[in-house]
Amino acid sequence: MMSQMNSIFPKPKHAHKSCVARLNSRVAKIANESGKKFGANQLLVLNALIEDHKAISAYEIVERIVRTNGRLQPVQVYRALDGLLKLGLVHRLRSKNAYVACNNFDICEAPQLFYCSSCEQVAEISGGALPQHIARIAQENSFKLDHGLVELIGQCSECSGA
Ligand SMILES: [Zn+2]
Ligand SMILES: [Zn+2]
Ligand SMILES: [Zn+2]
Repeated sequence: MMSQMNSIFPKPKHAHKSCVARLNSRVAKIANESGKKFGANQLLVLNALIEDHKAISAYEIVERIVRTNGRLQPVQVYRALDGLLKLGLVHRLRSKNAYVACNNFDICEAPQLFYCSSCEQVAEISGGALPQHIARIAQENSFKLDHGLVELIGQCSECSGA
């Protein structure tokens, strides 16, 4: 019996413009609500990350910025990333020490990141039962959980041919 398989990964020819627009509207909304402006460096880093859905290192971010005639030192990139991570606009894939722009709608809480080790793209799910389950297990075992980010590594359907 064949079933229709879903993939949370972006399709190779998806309308990426709408991903960019979605992120930009979140930036505008946060700026509006907090009344604070985003720094130029933060916007450069965010624009570099949203070129695609790959998880990239801080050095690759620097390279992308250079390609668009910008200029940032790694230390400036890290500082910009700090702020963007706190706002939930960027996620850090700890196992790869790489960063990816959040691809969720308005609220991204307790994201579970799916990393394809072949195409290096990241897909994400926000919320759901898994983070609650992890928090409960941590509590039951007197483990003080700072960071419950879930990273899952494998191959997306395009790469695995599934
Ligand atoms: Zn996209
Ligand atoms: Zn997210
Ligand atoms: Zn893939």
